[in-house]
Amino acid sequence: MHSWSFHQLGQYIEYRARRAGVPLVYADPAYTSQQCSECGHTDRGNRPSQATFACRSCGALMHAERQRVPQHRPQGRDRADHGA
Ligand SMILES: [Zn+2]
Repeated sequence: MHSWSFHQLGQYIEYRARRAGVPLVYADPAYTSQQCSECGHTDRGNRPSQATFACRSCGALMHAERQRVPQHRPQGRDRADHGA
């Protein structure tokens, strides 16, 4: 039994893709994430935007590109906001 984390699996797939000389293309979230992971309902309308999923059937809300969202941690802005 493998107990790879999703991250490890992703690295493995990327490694294999590079070895094979093929460009690694992640599934296009605009078209592959129209299916609700909660209820299975598939509808183009489930995707009001590329980064958002809103199931028309059960109302489930989620970020469609969770894996890609960069973690923005602005630092040093407090000083600017508060002045000296
Ligand atoms: Zn749903």
